Amino acid sequence: MKKIVSFFYCFLLMYSINAQRVCGSLSYLNKMGVPQYNQQELINASQNLFARDTFSNELITIPVVFHILYNNSSQNISNAQLQSQLKVLNEDYRRWNSDSSNTPHAFKPMAADCNIMFCLAQINPSGMPTTGIIRKYTNRASFAVDDAVKYSAAGGDDAWDSKKYLNIWVCNLSGGVLGYSTTPGMQADKDGVVIQYDAFGTVGNVRAQFNKGRTATHEVGHWLGLLHIWGDQKCGTDYVADTPSQSDYNSNCPSFPHVSDCSPNSNGDMFMNFMDYTNDACMNMFTYGQKNRMRSLFATNGIRNTFLKSYVCDSSLAMGASIPSDTLKATNNTELLNSNLTIYPNPVQSFFELAPKNGYEIIGKTIVIYNLSGKVVLKRAITNATEKINMLGVGPGIYFLKVLESDDNKMYKLVKI
Ligand SMILES: [Zn+2]
Repeated sequence: MKKIVSFFYCFLLMYSINAQRVCGSLSYLNKMGVPQYNQQELINASQNLFARDTFSNELITIPVVFHILYNNSSQNISNAQLQSQLKVLNEDYRRWNSDSSNTPHAFKPMAADCNIMFCLAQINPSGMPTTGIIRKYTNRASFAVDDAVKYSAAGGDDAWDSKKYLNIWVCNLSGGVLGYSTTPGMQADKDGVVIQYDAFGTVGNVRAQFNKGRTATHEVGHWLGLLHIWGDQKCGTDYVADTPSQSDYNSNCPSFPHVSDCSPNSNGDMFMNFMDYTNDACMNMFTYGQKNRMRSLFATNGIRNTFLKSYVCDSSLAMGASIPSDTLKATNNTELLNSNLTIYPNPVQSFFELAPKNGYEIIGKTIVIYNLSGKVVLKRAITNATEKINMLGVGPGIYFLKVLESDDNKMYKLVKI
């Protein structure tokens, strides 16, 4: 009998762990003494959205580094599993997910392509080539929601510069927690998300109910400033206008419509939103309001603005030296007075000339032109004392030019019209 009881206890425990999504973000922030989000700051940031130094709705690409902490081989998940997670993030944040067709008709007009994508880092913080995947044995059987996983000294792995990389730690979390995230603006060496290893990706070692990679989609949503859709209290708010008020979180997968006592209308809860607590297979959308909230962090002076200038996914730029902070920050006008180059004309219509001054030699050096996402749009060796550069194949916008192997290390802003 005792055996049967303990069997049942184990079964219930396993069942309860498996059945319910547990996001540790709120308890983590409470523990850290951080007000869940500084709402005023986020609202201000949303207003700044229109003062961005980038193009409206341009593609934002976020370089990712995976830190895999394993205590046994099943926790050391495969590259295929990691790639499957990256694919889900890209699909969900572009609304390319095949289950987007499951969004109820009533909510389809609110469902947004956030125009955010993720790439695996190809350059490490020392400027060396990397796969963007770190695997590390840990003698810890599990990690609590206490950030030990983020420090090598505590059995985890130190964060990479959180101004250029989204750090994703994958480990065995204790207490049935599937994941947790920092909120924008927290301490740089803690910045990122932590995900349970078997609630990660869609292939390999994944458990049912959480086998579609939505735990990471949800936690990255927190990392980008989103709150739970029910506002973490009865009929609370997530400060997003187009997510309907709902009484509480939803589990498993309700059928539409699921009306609760604070639903604004008969459409009820948006339980298929990535920021609810439903099963992976039940979630399929972010709203336009959530999209604006997330993208506002990339506005000028926004907390995540530096990601627009991170080029660490371009392996051709691995140069074996530290990556300067704010890599693609244009050199200011005062400093340009002492520069060794003249760019004329700028703005550029079709061609510009690169003319050295002060006896500076450019022949044999390489110039690189980046777009605002840090992607290289043009790279070539200079063969003439005064080089004429063709910009006809490049779309209108703001670009940055840098001369490699150069000691003045300036980043010239180019405008293509
Ligand atoms: Zn959450």
